[in-house]
Amino acid sequence: MAEPLTMSKKSSFNLSDKTGLTYGSQGVKRGIIWKVDRFAQHDGPGIRTALYFKGCVLKCLWCDNPEGQTSEPSLVLAKTICNGCGQCVKACTSQALALLQTDDSSTIQVNRSSCNLCGACAPICPTGALQILGQSYTVSELLAILEKDRLIHKRSGGGLTCTGGEPLYQSDFLMGLLSECRRLNIHTAIETSGYVDEMVFKDVLQLVDYLFIDLKHIDNEKHKRLTGNSNARILSNTLLASSTLQSRDKALTIRMVVIPGVNDGQNISDLTDFLRSLPLVTSVELLPYHRYGVQKYDLLGRRHGLPEAEPPSAEVMDKYKKHLAGYGLHVV
Ligand code: SF4
Ligand code: SF4
Repeated sequence: MAEPLTMSKKSSFNLSDKTGLTYGSQGVKRGIIWKVDRFAQHDGPGIRTALYFKGCVLKCLWCDNPEGQTSEPSLVLAKTICNGCGQCVKACTSQALALLQTDDSSTIQVNRSSCNLCGACAPICPTGALQILGQSYTVSELLAILEKDRLIHKRSGGGLTCTGGEPLYQSDFLMGLLSECRRLNIHTAIETSGYVDEMVFKDVLQLVDYLFIDLKHIDNEKHKRLTGNSNARILSNTLLASSTLQSRDKALTIRMVVIPGVNDGQNISDLTDFLRSLPLVTSVELLPYHRYGVQKYDLLGRRHGLPEAEPPSAEVMDKYKKHLAGYGLHVV
């Protein structure tokens, strides 16, 4: 069962100290983003500019964005498009790359323990088989991207979405960006696991216009096994978000990826009970698990934590959605 919910203490954060560019220049100057999607359509209202932040404390076994889990840049190797030219081997001064040659093919191998993520190999690779994911930006550089997208945001009712990884992993930088967006009247959305410091979360809740919380499991012991961490802070932060966003007349969407045999069945009933206890849930999104992220683990030289997991059937998803809707929750 879920651990008891607790309410937070008062935050010492002073919003007026953190408005304007001063915050970005006095606090953390650069954030690491691994993807910029300038036409995102599923992470908030309208068409959005989605920034994928690096870093996450949770280690969900099924994470479909493993490149977002680490805080440093990630070296990606797509062996299927490597032509075996060997140029990267010459460029690597750390001896982290080697060309394995057989009679009929050549394949590149990465020794990741020797790689210092210097990035020298990626730009010289003629096929794009090697890439570094994770680039540092200032708040001003991201605002310049948002400025280019301003017209499409205005016409579609969109804005900025910060996702990841976990955007609150880089909370100082995120706060600087959100403060600037508020000053410039840019609509903001955040997708978070909720596993964040309560004081920091309180501050973010005063700035954001739309919040997504991705819940994983309501049972704490199972949550620990699946993500490496307790869900107590997540559930208390979800309650905090719900009451704060209700008082600010903002939106809260709860998301959960449904994985058969992992977090379905009783967990859907427990989720329903938990959501019904909250003062505000604007909508609930049950998302069927998919296997699109599995091959990313190969590219990163890692193993997927749930290699046998399969997507749920459409009938099962429909049943769970109807269950939630039957209790008056708005399921989308
Ligand atoms: S990122 Fe740098 S150290 Fe790592 S494989 Fe490429 S060149 Fe070598
Ligand atoms: S430079 Fe690119 S294409 Fe050439 S061996 Fe290295 S990874 Fe393969």
